[in-house]
Amino acid sequence: MKLFSFIATVTALFFTLTGAGRASDNGVPLDHSKYANRQVLKDFTAAPCPDNPRGLTQIKGNLYRHTTGPGLAVHSGLVLITKEGALVIDPAMTCTATWLRDEIKSRFNVKVKYVVYTHGHADHISGAQVFQQDGAIVVANQRAVEPIVGERIPTAIPDRVFDEDMTITLGGEKVLLHRVAPSHSDSMTMILFPKYKALQCTDVCESKSMPYNDFLDFYYDGWIESLNWVLAQDVDVIDVGHYTPATKDDERALRDYMIDLHQQILDLVRNGQSWDELYRNVHFSDEVKKWIAYDQMHVLNIMGMYRWVSNHRRGEW
Ligand SMILES: [Zn+2]
Repeated sequence: MKLFSFIATVTALFFTLTGAGRASDNGVPLDHSKYANRQVLKDFTAAPCPDNPRGLTQIKGNLYRHTTGPGLAVHSGLVLITKEGALVIDPAMTCTATWLRDEIKSRFNVKVKYVVYTHGHADHISGAQVFQQDGAIVVANQRAVEPIVGERIPTAIPDRVFDEDMTITLGGEKVLLHRVAPSHSDSMTMILFPKYKALQCTDVCESKSMPYNDFLDFYYDGWIESLNWVLAQDVDVIDVGHYTPATKDDERALRDYMIDLHQQILDLVRNGQSWDELYRNVHFSDEVKKWIAYDQMHVLNIMGMYRWVSNHRRGEW
């Protein structure tokens, strides 16, 4: 009996350590039948792009980062490689997704088991159909389905969705998906890799870079709430979906910038300034002036925040 119990313990330990055969998630299956004949727009990322830069580089251990696009246009997502298959966040472009699929297969001899969307914007989620057609399970927050269908985005409809939280177990490793609040879109998902103290925080987080243009698909309060959530996590690598990975110090500086921008514009509006007067009177710190794309983005940032402030106040009457 003692020998049998010893063997059972060793066997259980083996499966716990290797995670063999345990790929699982607690997402909710999405019925695809009603989207079978949906209309889609032309895929602006589909034309062959042999000269488009692409990469798959190690962050630490089994965690990698894929990139596609040149310079400031670069899009990125974390990639987890396990014996049970890979998990890819936001393929971003159809024309490089086939390369990423083949690169993972040739370097690690596994297929992509999961594709996770950070949010329902085409510039990050294009190309997922390449992996779905190859058997991958596509995952998103349930709020991403409406814009993908409604905006006719030519990417994969998610196979599994979730409301607040979802856990994926792959190769014995845990990947935690969490919705904090509406921020950059209503469908934003934060993706934690606890073993690596790594976080995917696309478009809401920045890397010594300015938020994009006039805060597209923007919710101010939830954005601040999301950055505060990021600052409470035990992470030291944050992939922001662009540029190079960031740190919590970068996100603290971003949060402080956003709060300051909001307060300055609220004060100027309450002082009765018109747009033409107001945008000349917003001040930026020397630190922010050094961020990537400050020259192109700072007036657009003022405009986006001015719209938010104007839509979320009422004067005396
Ligand atoms: Zn976006």
